Amino acid sequence: MYYGFDVGGTKIEFGAFDSDLKRQATERVPTPGDDYGRLIETLAELVAKYDAQFNCEGSVGIGIPGIEKAEDGTVLTVNVPAAKGRTLRADLEAKIGRKVALNNDANCFALSEAWDESLQGEKVVLGLILGTGFGGGIVIDGQVVSGKNNVAGELGHMRMPIDAWLHLGENAPIFECGCESRGCIDNYLSGRGFEMLYTHYYQTEKKAIDIITEYHAGEEKAVAFVDRYMEMLAMVFAGLFTGIDPDVVALGGGLSNFELIYEEMPKRLPKYLLSISNPPKIIKAKHGDSGGVRGAAFLNIQR
Ligand SMILES: [Zn+2]
Repeated sequence: MYYGFDVGGTKIEFGAFDSDLKRQATERVPTPGDDYGRLIETLAELVAKYDAQFNCEGSVGIGIPGIEKAEDGTVLTVNVPAAKGRTLRADLEAKIGRKVALNNDANCFALSEAWDESLQGEKVVLGLILGTGFGGGIVIDGQVVSGKNNVAGELGHMRMPIDAWLHLGENAPIFECGCESRGCIDNYLSGRGFEMLYTHYYQTEKKAIDIITEYHAGEEKAVAFVDRYMEMLAMVFAGLFTGIDPDVVALGGGLSNFELIYEEMPKRLPKYLLSISNPPKIIKAKHGDSGGVRGAAFLNIQR
């Protein structure tokens, strides 16, 4: 069995998957605040419980909103205080006596999509999350690419390309990023960025969903704004796609429900790609909220 843990700020989701990657068990428990000992106990107890239930020694993967530092295995995370600065993977390995895989939740999201039946055989799958933030994950031949420092796929912290920047106009806003850089694409492409840009142009705050509703109603500002956003998205996506050259791109997060993206990108992308490139297939993620736990479990699968 493949066990996955999606460790979030408030809850931990556990999922057990059989060799056909079908889910056989689900359990949700609260994340134990900042009590690290309790966090390890909680994970170990769930492993023991399902080992007994399935009469096996399941392989264990953890997805977490954070990054494991390559040098010492400590976890860099804001949202899970209990794991912050801790060697979570090594400590759980010692506790349960087996190898544990750990990766970033956006990478798990991408991995979950890559292992969907419909994408079997696709070599390079890129997962992009247009949610509160903009996250990414790169999967090649069914394996997450983490890189030397475990930051591969952190595409949200690449800076805006010059054409997208000029496209935003003379008074383009310079947004500061949580990573302490300026101009990270996270702050322009994400759902939050979508709202911040709208506020920049029209000096009024609106939720993304309301802007989209107004767009569909043909409201002039919303129509102009969405057109500007789509063109910027195509410019930034083109840069990412030139660097990674994915076969398939799976979009998740709130903005991925905006169907217009799937109509507009194939039309707008080609002029920003190299002339010999064709746009990748861009699809809406299939596994939604269960992507994190699926991807965590699949960290241990080899194709
Ligand atoms: Zn950043």
